[in-house]
Amino acid sequence: MPEHDVIVVGAGNAALAAAVAAREQGATHVVVLEKAPPALRGGNTHYSGGLFRFAFARNDDLRPLVPEAERHVRGFFQDVVPYPRELFLQDLRRVTDGRTDPELAEILIGRSYDTVTWMSSQGIVLEPAVSLSAVRVGDRVKWSPGAVLRARHEGVGLSRMWFEIAEKRGVAIRYDTSALRLVQDRRGRVTGVLVQDAAGVHELSARAVVLGCGGFEANPEWRARYLGRPWDHAKVRGTRYNTGDGLRMAIEIGALPHGQWTGCHSTPIDADAPPYGDRKLTDKTNRLSYPYGVLVNRHGRRFFDEGEDFQLYTYAKLGGIILGQPGGVAYQIFDAKVAHLLEGRYKTGRPLVGDTLAKVVEQLTLDHDACLATLESYNAAASHGVFDPTARDGLAAALALPKSNWAQRLDTAPFVAYPVTGGITFTFGGVRVNERAQVMSTSWAPIPGLYACGEMVGGLFHGNYPGGTGLMSGAVFGRIAGANAAG
Ligand SMILES: Cc1cc2nc3c(=O)[nH]c(=O)nc-3n(C[C@H](O)[C@H](O)[C@H](O)COP(=O)(O)OP(=O)(O)OC[C@H]3O[C@@H](n4cnc5c(N)ncnc54)[C@H](O)[C@@H]3O)c2cc1C
Repeated sequence: MPEHDVIVVGAGNAALAAAVAAREQGATHVVVLEKAPPALRGGNTHYSGGLFRFAFARNDDLRPLVPEAERHVRGFFQDVVPYPRELFLQDLRRVTDGRTDPELAEILIGRSYDTVTWMSSQGIVLEPAVSLSAVRVGDRVKWSPGAVLRARHEGVGLSRMWFEIAEKRGVAIRYDTSALRLVQDRRGRVTGVLVQDAAGVHELSARAVVLGCGGFEANPEWRARYLGRPWDHAKVRGTRYNTGDGLRMAIEIGALPHGQWTGCHSTPIDADAPPYGDRKLTDKTNRLSYPYGVLVNRHGRRFFDEGEDFQLYTYAKLGGIILGQPGGVAYQIFDAKVAHLLEGRYKTGRPLVGDTLAKVVEQLTLDHDACLATLESYNAAASHGVFDPTARDGLAAALALPKSNWAQRLDTAPFVAYPVTGGITFTFGGVRVNERAQVMSTSWAPIPGLYACGEMVGGLFHGNYPGGTGLMSGAVFGRIAGANAAG
């Protein structure tokens, strides 16, 4: 008899959703293996903003999830806009250039609302994501479609709640326990995991194994191998423990790779951010208000359409684009007209300030003349129409590299510049899973006894990503993996 019904490798959002679902579906002995010590537990989930993107047909569908919302946000249920499945799919297809795996996308989107409801019923408390996706207009809030709720206390709260729920449901958590290798019987069924812990290297046996142990974003050698330059130098926004172990273990026994192995999620972050995520700062090094300003590189030139779309549809590719600039850095320049629109997270940074553009520019490590010329031609091209941060306002600067929306002149002192670099969040390449979250083999058959979820699932994201989808995918496929592993 195996020691465990289900072994879950990893202790982030996906893995803990799997462990809780496995217990719910009748698995008695469920154990979670966490490579990190308790003080560093929880993977990227801990560092996240806790935002969940999910489909809902009517505003009232949110009431059971956040019954108290209007005590904190006036007019919440009136102001949010429904996010039908078709719109979620449209967003996912648009930002991935149509490459998202249609079957996985259907599962992710089709089960998103139901899964958020399930999480809530398990004890994950949600709240309106006011500071992440919303723009304040007077005393009301304009919401970005689909990105309206997050876990209470963001990723820190989400991770803590999942651990509490799992422990309450009788899931055993083994810290400082690294999964090294999958164990198979002679028929190819996965029957356990070789682990390393304080007792040394030994085997744990189970009826089924769920891999929820992240991508390879914290492994510089794999970054160099699959993502190439300049990713070997990227700062890691989250955990240092996601080194591709689960992907390696699965591929070693014949799992089928899937998705974009040269792709990753990466965002503009403070140029002085630490090399790995800071447990207290978490996602506060993000610098996502660039649609309201101008972005220049060390040559003093613009290199990206800052107003291409709302930030939640462009931020996940912009980190890599910045990293590809000379020195891997850039500057976001704003004027006083938009100071109130800068996300609260900018408060963790140290802007360079000046009462003229020239005085700001002279403080930046770049080609000063070229930068001033860039800003002058931007100002000359910027429109005079009505600026509206709540809509794609079409206020464009018609330059060779346009700024398609929100292109106001930079003309009101004081001016500020924030130095940014690109930080890697997670990798897009993964293994192929079927609708039961079983890992598929290179013979296109499920590997018996093996399931995967979270960042390890390949195929959903290519080149870019709509904000809030990583946690949603983790919860959807984690729940499916855990329930099927128990069965
Ligand atoms: C700063 C930041 C902000 C983010 N904000 C958001 C957001 O607001 N919304 C959103 O949707 N997404 C967000 N993301 C992305 C999101 O955090 C990830 O998509 C999600 O956490 C992935 O969940 P996961 O369970 O797959 O992996 P993780 O949460 O990273 O968990 C992986 C786990 O596996 C463990 N592990 C690794 N190797 C082994 C091994 N060999 N043995 C045992 N354990 C192992 C790790 O220690 C960890 O516990 C953010 C990410 C970061 C870094």
